Amino acid sequence: MNRRNFLKTSSMGFLGSLVPGIINAQKNNVSEVVDIHMHLIGESQSNGCYLGPRARKSLSYKMLVPFLDINRNAGSDEIDRQYVKMLRQKVESTSIPYIGILIAMDGVYNKKGELDFDRTPYYVPNEYLFKVCAESTSFFPGASVNPNRKDALDELEKVIENGAVLIKWLPNSQNINPTDSRHIDFYRILAEKDIPLLVHGGKEHTVPVEDQSLGNPEHLMLPLEEGVTVIVAHCADTGGDKHGKYFDRFLNMLKTSPNLYGDISSLTFLHKTLKLRYFLNHPELFDRLFYGSDFPLISTPLVSSFYFLGKLSLRNMFQIEGIDNDLERNLTLNRKLGVPEHCFRRGTELLKLG
Ligand SMILES: [Zn+2]
Repeated sequence: MNRRNFLKTSSMGFLGSLVPGIINAQKNNVSEVVDIHMHLIGESQSNGCYLGPRARKSLSYKMLVPFLDINRNAGSDEIDRQYVKMLRQKVESTSIPYIGILIAMDGVYNKKGELDFDRTPYYVPNEYLFKVCAESTSFFPGASVNPNRKDALDELEKVIENGAVLIKWLPNSQNINPTDSRHIDFYRILAEKDIPLLVHGGKEHTVPVEDQSLGNPEHLMLPLEEGVTVIVAHCADTGGDKHGKYFDRFLNMLKTSPNLYGDISSLTFLHKTLKLRYFLNHPELFDRLFYGSDFPLISTPLVSSFYFLGKLSLRNMFQIEGIDNDLERNLTLNRKLGVPEHCFRRGTELLKLG
């Protein structure tokens, strides 16, 4: 054995001894994946989309652009077409059947309930979402309806009628206060039609915000009490106030609200790995968690198997990093870490397939 092989073998043995979970992870046979958190992004006016100057100037947008296989010099129609084509190629080339719930993005509304483009960071209308989802059996629509819009209830009924499998909110950036009692009719429709509300929880780092305190998961008690199935995106992993961290409060709420869930999207990101490690050390919590990728952000170096030193063998790390398809790479990373099979499949319940 030469020195290089010796170092490789001994370091793998050392890392392996730290990792009892790896053996379990290898038994983790996944037959189907539902990714409940994939962003549809667009900027073409002909698709009704809008990408505002604050979003274009944001650090996250600048960081994302070089890692997307899109020709930025093309016109906006062509950019949108390339984004959808790229999404389809990735979803359709995974080794396991993969279903993506694509998410639209409603805007910010003024006091009269009218769309305020100046305060809207980016806008992807439900009409465009439905059009894209109709073109592939791998996509299901996660519509976005801001309850502050004057036609909110009509739009909600319409998207449910058209087949929306969930409603997505990003309260911090869409200026939605979930505790507002004026939203009760909205919640009652969701509860009656059995449509979950996927709500960003915690601090928002990517999209320009109106108010970070709107990411407090305790604001979701009102829809929970109205019987809505609420899924907190990223499990409110970051942020907090003088009363404590949002993540701890989300964990406490799981004990008392049986209709509360979380998604593990973005928890493979560098600054969030501790939260995923927490769940891996408390595997019973996966009974309340959905798998999500938060595509397209997983395409950036924010995600790497090397951030899970001690949880994966070096060989596994290099194998995972060698996977070209971002969706497959993030999926494999979660599987090798030991995220249980039922978490990847849980989204089938939303699609009424399971
Ligand atoms: Zn997201």
